[in-house]
Amino acid sequence: MNFEYNEDQLNIKEMAKNFAETELMPYASEWDQNEIFPVETLKKAAELGLAAIYVNENYGGSGLSRLDAAICFEELSRGCVSTAAYISIHNMVTWMIDAHGSDHVKERFIKKLSTMEMMSSYCLTEPGSGSDAVALKTKATKKGNSHYVLNGSKSFISGGPTSDIFAVMCRTGEEGASGVSCILVEKGTKGLSFGKQEKKMGWNSQHTSMVNFDNCEISIDNLVGNEGDGFKIAMKGLDGGRVNIAACSLGGARAALEASMSYSAERKQFGKSLDKFQVTQFKLADMATELEASRLMVLRAACALDTADKQATKLCAMAKRYATDVCSEICNMALQIHGGYGYLKDFPLERLVRDLRVHQILEGTNEIMRVIISRHLKAN
Ligand SMILES: Cc1cc2nc3c(=O)[nH]c(=O)nc-3n(C[C@H](O)[C@H](O)[C@H](O)COP(=O)(O)OP(=O)(O)OC[C@H]3O[C@@H](n4cnc5c(N)ncnc54)[C@H](O)[C@@H]3O)c2cc1C
Repeated sequence: MNFEYNEDQLNIKEMAKNFAETELMPYASEWDQNEIFPVETLKKAAELGLAAIYVNENYGGSGLSRLDAAICFEELSRGCVSTAAYISIHNMVTWMIDAHGSDHVKERFIKKLSTMEMMSSYCLTEPGSGSDAVALKTKATKKGNSHYVLNGSKSFISGGPTSDIFAVMCRTGEEGASGVSCILVEKGTKGLSFGKQEKKMGWNSQHTSMVNFDNCEISIDNLVGNEGDGFKIAMKGLDGGRVNIAACSLGGARAALEASMSYSAERKQFGKSLDKFQVTQFKLADMATELEASRLMVLRAACALDTADKQATKLCAMAKRYATDVCSEICNMALQIHGGYGYLKDFPLERLVRDLRVHQILEGTNEIMRVIISRHLKAN
């Protein structure tokens, strides 16, 4: 077992760190407060290969590993959690198309997705089916051999109206997982519309909305995989997505720890700096320890995906559950160390607390992570 990053990984880490410090960190607060989706910055990230990290090089991906991706997402989210998390979702969709799409679909979309000329959204959740995703009702009815007619609504879709392509999990067959297919819907399709931009607690540099399909005619060429493969493709995408989101929690928590270390060294009360109180030292020690434990779990899960380990789904769920819970708590402790100043928007702590909170809810809530883990425990 080797715990050292190799030279390539150190270079990737440095590249993502520099990008985060120059292109994300200085603007994160402004994007959050004004709900700005930073399109030009995302395209700059794509120029560095960050929009298709673990996608095959044949069609324009970077051909890196899940471990490399986890390293990148920790660095990016140290600069802006919300923007890094959108890049993570975009990577998840791009990988789903690359891993399961036909050559025709890959040729049409991967290049544009890897440059972020096209932005993407992952559409699973519906108003009536969240955790119970397999109960989804959006329906695609086949018309002849040329196209599907798609009807239904997806809720909470990250990217929403700003995306160009939507990977939509929909029902083409019977009830249950085997009746679900994955179909790509392009912006501009007649009958595609969006709900209002949701007002959110965090993740404000990316827009979230309902996505509605009203008799949308979609070419059968836009099917990803075979009919009935959609739920499996969606879940495989989420294995990687969960590792990425967990890595985004690491970056946010690291930013919070770093801010706490410098603030507690400067701020004086009762005649000495806060870091001279053992209670502060213990808080910082616990935060650093828990961050390290989270990172080990995230990297372990990423390696499991890279080696197609049979335990990968369980390890991804464990890493997502643990890292997103613990890193949220680290941000909360960091806010406490900052006292009243931590509550002000002049400091990044309140944003970090808000941005990390949703990682415990989406890509499967942390209760659902426990359901997945216990199911795998029983199976082994
Ligand atoms: C900002 C944001 C962005 C999102 N982006 C996307 C996106 O891009 N694409 C997408 O498809 N979805 C997206 N989602 C949706 C997200 O994945 C769902 O919100 C999540 O899966 C939970 O579904 P729900 O909100 O319907 O909650 P529910 O499923 O109604 O759950 C409510 C509560 O009940 C608990 N619960 C439910 N079932 C069980 C059970 N069996 N055992 C124990 N507890 C249970 C849950 O853990 C939760 O605490 C996003 C959500 C948010 C908030």
